[in-house]
Amino acid sequence: MTMNLEQLFDENKEQSLYGRYITLDSIESLLNKLNTNNQLEIIGKSVLDKPIYKYQIGAGKIKILLWSQMHGNESTTTKGLFDFINVLHNGSELAKELLEAFTFCCIPMLNPDGAKLYTRANANKVDLNRDSQDLSQPESRVLRATFENFKPDFCFNLHDQRTIFGVADSGKPATVSFLAPAYNEAREINDSRLKAINLIAGINEVLQRYIPGQIGRFDDSFNINCIGDTFQYLGVPTVLFEAGHFPNDYDREETRKYIFMALISSFKIINENDIVISKFDNYLSIPQNKVVFYDFIYKNIKINYDGIEIITNFASQYKEELIENQVYFNAYIAKIGELDDYFGHLEYDGNNALYSDNHKNVPELDQKADFYLKNITKFVNGLMIS
Ligand SMILES: [Zn+2]
Repeated sequence: MTMNLEQLFDENKEQSLYGRYITLDSIESLLNKLNTNNQLEIIGKSVLDKPIYKYQIGAGKIKILLWSQMHGNESTTTKGLFDFINVLHNGSELAKELLEAFTFCCIPMLNPDGAKLYTRANANKVDLNRDSQDLSQPESRVLRATFENFKPDFCFNLHDQRTIFGVADSGKPATVSFLAPAYNEAREINDSRLKAINLIAGINEVLQRYIPGQIGRFDDSFNINCIGDTFQYLGVPTVLFEAGHFPNDYDREETRKYIFMALISSFKIINENDIVISKFDNYLSIPQNKVVFYDFIYKNIKINYDGIEIITNFASQYKEELIENQVYFNAYIAKIGELDDYFGHLEYDGNNALYSDNHKNVPELDQKADFYLKNITKFVNGLMIS
């Protein structure tokens, strides 16, 4: 069955969620509104005593465990997850089919403290995705207990990745990336990992129609402290989803759509395709993620170093800074010199124009990307404004 995924997204997009700063306050009333039949439960508390919610829906035998915002500042998949939950509530044939085939156990915000602080780590500054063996944090223990009680057939580990990732050396950003984590050091393939691999190969086929060449495959080095590696090691097929950059979409409202499409496609594939043929080669044909991007690259810039003029390049990169409950993208100079192996999401050719700024008239690392070319072209926060 083919379906119009664009239209399905437009009809089910959760309009109350927008942008990057998604906190417990953003989703609590929504969860209560969606709690039409006791689907909602508080399954634990964060370090700062905030509730961790589980939203469980469906009566099918295939059990899917999904968690988002394990890293607090990674909210795109949370938006995509709510867009998907809206589908389950829309009364359509698709909703009926999914609810009969599956039970979805969703933890939309595993790290509510990090979400509030807009940090990757939790309130104790621990990266929950390195805590799957120690289980030193309450959030880690909540996820592990849910895994053990629910006994999922598949785990969906939902994240965001930084704008630095491209699809190999193609010059295209990795808008969505996937990984079937390894379960051992040798990175072998067993039945369980193969299920995750086949699923990713299937999702990739669908997404390539919408974002050709913008899908990456993450490095599969084994680290048992990572949650995906642990669940894969425990014998449950686990897929890592990474929402990444789409051109000019720093709010990740476009990427959100591709996460939604990936989720819908996943469940169609799992439900319709129970023949196990290896799609390992298809999986391997997805190019690897590579760190090749800066947000801005400025080429052929003349810089006067104590009377010696050289023509060079530099790059700037946004830092996402939370100031009074708002996330700002502030551009800082991140690299000066040779940038041949890098791409900029925006690139400017200075045509040998002279650099100046309000400091020392030479770009320095970690300085705000505010400067002039030829004293007339003004750049503020990385962007050319005049
Ligand atoms: Zn993450």
